[in-house]
Amino acid sequence: MKTNTFKNKFLNNVYIEHRLAKYTWFGVGGNAEILFVPEEEICIEKFLKEKPADCKVFTIGAGSNLLVRDNGINGITLITKKLNQISIDADGIITANCGAIDAEVARFAREHNRTGLEFLIGIPGTIGGGIKMNSGAFGSEFKDVLIDVKAINHNGEYKIFSKKDLKMEYRKIGLEAKWIFLSARFKTSFGKHEFIKEKMKKIIQSRKESQPLGIKTGGSTFKNPFGNKAWQLIDQAGCRGLKNGDAMISEKHCNFIINLKKASAQQIEELGQKVRQKVFENSGIKLNWEIEIVGKK
Ligand SMILES: Cc1cc2nc3c(=O)[nH]c(=O)nc-3n(C[C@H](O)[C@H](O)[C@H](O)COP(=O)(O)OP(=O)(O)OC[C@H]3O[C@@H](n4cnc5c(N)ncnc54)[C@H](O)[C@@H]3O)c2cc1C
Repeated sequence: MKTNTFKNKFLNNVYIEHRLAKYTWFGVGGNAEILFVPEEEICIEKFLKEKPADCKVFTIGAGSNLLVRDNGINGITLITKKLNQISIDADGIITANCGAIDAEVARFAREHNRTGLEFLIGIPGTIGGGIKMNSGAFGSEFKDVLIDVKAINHNGEYKIFSKKDLKMEYRKIGLEAKWIFLSARFKTSFGKHEFIKEKMKKIIQSRKESQPLGIKTGGSTFKNPFGNKAWQLIDQAGCRGLKNGDAMISEKHCNFIINLKKASAQQIEELGQKVRQKVFENSGIKLNWEIEIVGKK
């Protein structure tokens, strides 16, 4: 691919063969062939219309649900972190750009005395990633609060999707991967500031008690199989504390894999596969990854 064409036209937003590790929570991952960090929506449209039609685009939000392989990602990797504006209208509808951090949106709602988005305080992703994953916590998920989403496809064409169009289910949606979410509208209702503050405080406290904090991880590694808890199956299979190099199953929450220091993506992936095998041998249940594994093998 003529990488220099991009470099010249989008000088301040494009990096060639750029390491992705610092853009993921695990702190691992090889290079992006072309890294694109847009500052405005219009810049994305121009870029997508310019790129060769067969050049793949992969979007990264906060990288909190991703394991990027050591060999990196071919084609374009788009990072949304600079698209992070949040606003509210007279009806209390909150609009957030795709790169806005969930916790910032929760705090914004609190500052405007709007309730309904408190659960976002505990999810370390962005709005774009949250929609893609239908992320959720403490009894609420994106599906419950989303109104609609503005998206752009890999050819630079825009479309608005209603919540119904997205076919949101437990940690997944039914939309083709070619759509990049640009912004989303959320419904909220009036709430007392103290009440909202208290609810968020409880969520933060509960996280502190149940999850390892301040470490390199991808959050819940596997989805909960219907009627079961992934962490319990992992625990029963004797995997708590299991290690592969610097990759380890957390002692505190055994559905979390943690990178103790210098684990490679391969070590993390291998550890996950080992856990899946052990759980299957012990319970006959196949765990499915919640973390998305991307990049060249
Ligand atoms: C400590 C920790 C705790 C966590 N707790 C929870 C939890 O309680 N509940 C929960 O549901 N998850 C949790 N997670 C997982 C993760 O935070 C969520 O899945 C989050 O919503 C992912 O958002 P992200 O921006 O980091 O997405 P990324 O990890 O960057 O990407 C995830 C997916 O979303 C896609 N994507 C990202 N942005 C866009 C966009 N703008 N348009 C289209 N696609 C996009 C990516 O291509 C990828 O397919 C946790 C993770 C960690 C590390």
